[in-house]
Amino acid sequence: MKVLVTGGAGFIGSAFVRQAVKEGWDVAVLDALTYAGDLERLKEVDGKYKFYHVDLVERKAVFDVLEDFRPEVVVHFAAESHVDRSILDPLRFIRSNVEGTLNLLDASKEFKVERFINISTDEVYGELGEEGYFTEESPLNPNSPYSVSKAGADMLGRAYYRTYKLPVITVRPSNNYGPWQYPEKLIPVIILKALRDEPIPVYGNGMNVRQWLYVEDCAEAVLKIVKDGKEGEIYNVAGPEEKRNIEVVKTILRLMNKPESLIKFVKDRPGHDYRYAMKVEKIKRELSWEPKVGFEEGISKTVEWYLSHLDWVKKIEGELRKFWQLVYQS
Ligand code: NAD
Repeated sequence: MKVLVTGGAGFIGSAFVRQAVKEGWDVAVLDALTYAGDLERLKEVDGKYKFYHVDLVERKAVFDVLEDFRPEVVVHFAAESHVDRSILDPLRFIRSNVEGTLNLLDASKEFKVERFINISTDEVYGELGEEGYFTEESPLNPNSPYSVSKAGADMLGRAYYRTYKLPVITVRPSNNYGPWQYPEKLIPVIILKALRDEPIPVYGNGMNVRQWLYVEDCAEAVLKIVKDGKEGEIYNVAGPEEKRNIEVVKTILRLMNKPESLIKFVKDRPGHDYRYAMKVEKIKRELSWEPKVGFEEGISKTVEWYLSHLDWVKKIEGELRKFWQLVYQS
């Protein structure tokens, strides 16, 4: 199977590429290599994929890739992915995530792609209170510039299925964590700050709830969707357990033998969604997918991974510090 993976040098995309290569698929990666993209994530499959250094905003370049590689399947992970950055620079998110997706959909239509997997997010549903769950039928109510840009990309996929019969399948994963996540996101921030005995910034009162999903489980769900998902359908993909941010922080501190006195509550993120939670009965029932990695196991593996990959963290340290400074003023 010929599969083009956009954002394959990113956190989740690279986990998917590693699994797809192991499946024996003929894989090409399209990635702009923004600050978040790094081919080191693919070193274990070096030489086993083709690479196109292309920004999705460059429309002609995107068409050239499709013409050259002629994929049967496109798996579209590429996106600006961090809510905090979207608050600082919304235009960049609209360009990459909406215009970039539009270019990719048009090129996929032109070159008659047989399956287009559009990676969206649970954040398109908006926030929940203490009760209730989103299903694939829930209305979209995105709240941040990031989630609005993702909802735009998600709805463009819907329109291309309805209007042009492009075989689009939409995937809405919950918060991922695990090896190779760029340390601007909550879990690696906690690990690295704790390691250096620096204050750990926790937004608001730390009560926000997420359904943490181990990245290899997410990649496996997407693999199953590529193989057996139904065109025009939406699949929610969520982790096994809901956790409050503060519980996540305390679990990591316990695993690292660090004191809770490192926790520093900081001014909440503007518009911070309180809780995301989805039902995943559909993918369980139709594709027999279930997350395999529980939170306690996944978080231990993740802590171990960062502690044994500090050379990678060192490499991106400059960019990272700038970002931490900007967002947490620490
Ligand atoms: P990431 O930021 O780690 O990686 C994104 C990748 O896309 C990078 O390699 C980057 O270079 C590339 N990219 C960005 N803009 C591009 C452009 N205009 N053209 C080409 N390449 C570009 O992101 P991630 O965490 O791996 O997320 C992957 C996808 O999954 C995204 O669509 C994201 O919205 C979605 N998602 C992520 C999570 C999560 O918890 N990380 C949860 C749900 C959904």
